[in-house]
Amino acid sequence: MNVSDMLEGKVAIVTGGTRGIGYGIVKKFLEAGAKVALFGSRQETVDQALEKIQSEVPGGEVMGLHPALGDFDAAEKAIQSVREKFGKVDILVNNAGISARESLYEYKPEDFEKIMSLNVNAVFNCSKAAAAIMKEQGGGSIVNISSMVSIYGQPAGCGYPASKFAVNGLTKSLARELGRDQIRVNAVAPGVTRTDMVAALPEEMVQRISATIPLGRVGEPEEVANAALFLASDLASYVTGTILSVDGATQV
Ligand code: NAD
Repeated sequence: MNVSDMLEGKVAIVTGGTRGIGYGIVKKFLEAGAKVALFGSRQETVDQALEKIQSEVPGGEVMGLHPALGDFDAAEKAIQSVREKFGKVDILVNNAGISARESLYEYKPEDFEKIMSLNVNAVFNCSKAAAAIMKEQGGGSIVNISSMVSIYGQPAGCGYPASKFAVNGLTKSLARELGRDQIRVNAVAPGVTRTDMVAALPEEMVQRISATIPLGRVGEPEEVANAALFLASDLASYVTGTILSVDGATQV
């Protein structure tokens, strides 16, 4: 199967699709033949991403929305409007996420709630709304973007790894619950990936991080997108409940 045919005829939603890994997934899915709805946090960034993707993948069918994903009604309404525009919803990628670095002593309870709202509640909300449509259609695929911190934890900003452990829990549990409806649920757990955050680091620091990774470099958004493409596609028809590490064998 050619990459350009892997998602032919499918409709996908990618949350946090305006930049970084999410943008890489939007681009890859359009190149693979899907119609794609990208969700961002603001109208302005959604418009910028739509303009960029239309120039990079001319002819790709793409739309953009910016629902408050932590609110079930808003998430459901946005997912319904994708179905209205594109006719169905086959694939959901729960990618939108924020990270944290505060020590427990500095960590404000409202910041802990904020990270849970986007990294966990939004995954629940979007999965619940999309699964109802997928069930009616006879199946679908949900891909959650977890992180290597869901395996190792991290030494500060405990809300972030806690949220990604929850993402893995949702992945494994929903795979078991939704299998009978032919809805597959998997996750990709990236290591350090070259998004804006990493690109802003001094090259010397990126090299220091890279030296600790067996493959000797950080990952690229496209490499995470390739894993998401496989899991979203019919090539992964018997794969569900798995957490696929894309981290160059990082051990921390
Ligand atoms: P990024 O900051 O570059 O992009 C985040 C995306 O999420 C953007 O599209 C943004 O619009 C969206 N977003 C942020 N707040 C939002 C909100 N309140 N509502 C809706 N959307 C919102 O991030 P990234 O590095 O591309 O990370 C994407 C995913 O990958 C996250 O879940 C992150 O935890 C995970 N991840 C990233 C890395 C890495 O090194 N970059 C490593 C492991 C896991």
